[in-house]
Amino acid sequence: MTTRRHFIWLLPASGAALLSACSESAPPPSAAPPAAAPASSAEYPVPAPAPAPEVAQTPAATGPMLEASDPTAAALGYVAVAANADKAKYPNFVEGSACSNCTLYQGAIGSEAGPCPLFPGKQVAAAGWCASYVKKAT
Ligand code: SF4
Repeated sequence: MTTRRHFIWLLPASGAALLSACSESAPPPSAAPPAAAPASSAEYPVPAPAPAPEVAQTPAATGPMLEASDPTAAALGYVAVAANADKAKYPNFVEGSACSNCTLYQGAIGSEAGPCPLFPGKQVAAAGWCASYVKKAT
């Protein structure tokens, strides 16, 4: 029967025996052969990278430009150049407002035109404006 006292007595003796066994059988680190590189990639095939996911193109991003004569555009007072907005009819017009700084504008920063959800399938001019303008939060 092994008691705790017997185990404690055996521990240093077994540790010393283990150390001596390791030091006799293991070669010195400098004698170890260098790890061989694989002969070819066929030996260790590398999986092909996964194809990049396709970026969804918004159809409107390539759609035609919205014309001010479009019925919806006319109803909202859309103009391709904000400065040409009818200020008498739309007194809420604020100088400096334009599609490019409207919260609904979906064109890239610096783009000349981009989609607007109010005019699906069309692009609005970044310099444009309509009565539904909502200043983009900064
Ligand atoms: Fe331009 Fe905004 Fe009007 Fe769309 S809602 S046309 S982005 S001002």
